[in-house]
Amino acid sequence: MQLDTPISELSRVGKTTAARLKLLDINTVADLIFYFPFRYEDYSSVKNIVDLQPNEAVSIHGKIQLIANRRSFRKRTNVTEALIGDDSGVLKVVWFNQPFLIKALKTGDEIYLSGKVDETGTQMVSPDYEKITFARKPGETIHTARLVPVYHATNGVTQKQIRFLLSLTVPIFDSLEEYLPSEIIKKYAFPTLSVALKNIHFPDNDKLAKKSRERFQFEELFLVQLAILLSKKEMDNSAGLPVAFIEKLTKDFVAELPFKLTDDQKKCSWEIIQDLEKPKLMNRLLEGDVGSGKTIVVALALLNVLANGYKAILMAPTEILAEQHYKTMRKLFLKQKFRIVLLTGNKREIDGEKLSKVEILSKINFGEADLIIGTHAVIQDSVQVKDLALVVVDEQHRFGVHQRKSLMLRDNKGLTPHFLSMTATPIPRSLVLALYGDLDLSIIKHLPPNRKTIVTKLVGEAQRQDAYNFIEEQVKSGRQVFVICPLIDPSDKFGYKSVKQEFEKLDQRIFPEIKIGLMHGRLKSKEKEEVMQKFLNKEFSILVSTSVIEVGIDVPNATIMMIEGADRFGLAQLHQFRGRVGRGEHQSYCFLFSDNWSELTQKRLKYLESCSDGFKLAEKDLELRGPGEVCGVRQSGLPDLKIASLTDVELLKKVQLEAKTLIEKKEISQSLLNKIKQLKLAMHFE
Ligand code: ADP
Ligand code: MG
Repeated sequence: MQLDTPISELSRVGKTTAARLKLLDINTVADLIFYFPFRYEDYSSVKNIVDLQPNEAVSIHGKIQLIANRRSFRKRTNVTEALIGDDSGVLKVVWFNQPFLIKALKTGDEIYLSGKVDETGTQMVSPDYEKITFARKPGETIHTARLVPVYHATNGVTQKQIRFLLSLTVPIFDSLEEYLPSEIIKKYAFPTLSVALKNIHFPDNDKLAKKSRERFQFEELFLVQLAILLSKKEMDNSAGLPVAFIEKLTKDFVAELPFKLTDDQKKCSWEIIQDLEKPKLMNRLLEGDVGSGKTIVVALALLNVLANGYKAILMAPTEILAEQHYKTMRKLFLKQKFRIVLLTGNKREIDGEKLSKVEILSKINFGEADLIIGTHAVIQDSVQVKDLALVVVDEQHRFGVHQRKSLMLRDNKGLTPHFLSMTATPIPRSLVLALYGDLDLSIIKHLPPNRKTIVTKLVGEAQRQDAYNFIEEQVKSGRQVFVICPLIDPSDKFGYKSVKQEFEKLDQRIFPEIKIGLMHGRLKSKEKEEVMQKFLNKEFSILVSTSVIEVGIDVPNATIMMIEGADRFGLAQLHQFRGRVGRGEHQSYCFLFSDNWSELTQKRLKYLESCSDGFKLAEKDLELRGPGEVCGVRQSGLPDLKIASLTDVELLKKVQLEAKTLIEKKEISQSLLNKIKQLKLAMHFE
């Protein structure tokens, strides 16, 4: 058995089990070994039967004196009853609806039982059991009579299965190569890899388990930081095409805008333009709240790139957003006569002229397109952009090194294009370094002046009808409305049930006269785009949706954002929803509904009424709900953290320092490098 041995080759893993393990991302022995328990059940106390106390969680070690099934007709259940004896006495044990137990457990078998003694002190109900056999000696138990690891399991994979498979892997722990530098292990008194693995899965006591956990928490963040820093180093050492700043052109362009740039916009544009001028690669994240005016900043960068005769790509996560950018850029660059292409799965045009796929690709590949705007269709292999100097990606924070390299190959000078990512997701300061140590940041902090604030109100049930009346009025005067529903039933993964219910209620009872659309996660992305398109075309006035509603989508005619079950969302996410309205000339509103009346929840939601600063809201989320809830962490492109926490700022600081020191010393071992390579600082376009 080796780390890369497929899990299906382990004993007792058939096709079904392998498929179920796959749902837990366990495909190889390594995946299994690094699948850590999230807690332990303490059954380490093994007592004589005579000493058992009512209600205690305990283990016993004895022999089965009697075991039999009985049918309980009244309750229509099967009851397995057994008597277990040790030197001190006899205990009655029952299990329900496990008739097959009598096949595994026979009179005379030596077993351990772990569980809770009932209130009489004379019986155990449904304890865990483990038979002592030739292979499983006392003291070597994995399910009983110890600190028992508890794993996140999934439909059909049991705790026992996971523990059993892990017990098969224990013998190889000693042969695994340590990848953490020995100075770090020494400095922090961490257990070595093999000891840590043994003690995170099958610890002899709490202290050992805790030490192991600390090691793996450190290690997880450490590997991520190293990966980020290495990627930064690689980029820092890469040459980029220097793009000359064309001052007069830029000034004229700005002068012709119908508004004055804000100070933040000027600062960010300047940071980007300066980066572009250097013969070094730009790798920058432009962050700014919804409506803060990122587009112009990007346009100024594009202007300089294109006017220098270079090409650029602007990539959006969906077709609608790509088309939106295409329209905006065509308007902005009307005078410059840049040749602008739209390329998505379904749409191909250049400067408004529809073309076939072959035609558009040939235009691009022959250098007859200056700016290529699209979905990830633009980075497919058949697209070869010569003199590509800049790639801008919307709402995708990190662009994998691989994607960058693949773009590099297409540039005939062998250079990687500069990279600019833009996002409306406010990332709290404390997380920025952890997530984006490899990117330089430009932040638009303040919205352009004279923005109408979106009137936000936490609405009580008593005023629900008033809210509906108001919505009806708005629709009558031609406006449109979003209604967002949370996922209520956890089995309802795509939120279909909840949103359907709300849809039917609104459609049939509340607003029978109004046309209503429906959007949820079960729709394919193409279907989602169709619904959005219809809403844009005003084919319906109300759109009922789960949280799948896209970031960045512009429906200027929508003026009301109504959110049901608002307490189930983070503040930053609510703020993102709110940003879907207030994009046109009309006064807009956001109504929050919540049936959670706890003081804390009400206070949290009330905060949204007075605060329209996405960064502040994200900080608040981080403080109240932890990093998993901070909107955008999931888009960060980082691998999911298994046991470490991004809120542990102290640990993060330590880890960052150690990672930096190690990289400066240039002493990264091959085994550590291999481990880092397994992480994918990925780009997940859907
Ligand atoms: P986002 O950052 O969400 O992408 P946009 O770039 O789409 O924001 O800008 C939102 C709106 O604000 C656009 O209609 C844009 O023309 C306008 N805008 C951008 N900058 C300014 C400014 N400095 N003053 C006034 N309006 C601006
Ligand atoms: Mg935008």
